[in-house]
Amino acid sequence: MSIYSEQPPTGAADAVWRITVDGTITYTLPLSPAAQAINTGIMEESTASVEAYIEPETHAVVCPECGADHGLIAEGNWRGDVPLRLLCPAGHRWTPRGADPDFGRGLMRQIILDVSAA
Ligand SMILES: [Zn+2]
Repeated sequence: MSIYSEQPPTGAADAVWRITVDGTITYTLPLSPAAQAINTGIMEESTASVEAYIEPETHAVVCPECGADHGLIAEGNWRGDVPLRLLCPAGHRWTPRGADPDFGRGLMRQIILDVSAA
């Protein structure tokens, strides 16, 4: 089971989940094309030194209003047609990277997989 599967581990793809996340929610942004080119050069072509390898950065999701990074509740579905919404313990709601629905769907799928594996 991966975030690329058509179906969630349990339930229907359009079922809306409401998950209280234990710990922080983290995500990794894709590398820029320039960074990917450097890494490809190191891994496949040896055109750059290993020290130049660029690690993707992992970020924690934080409430944009109060900075909370624990006790967040995620609401959304596997299919992603219900935009991911997050709720912090202080009651703030937001859609992370709201202009990027693929980001929200991927993050919600990861949260569903994490809670299903627990
Ligand atoms: Zn908040």
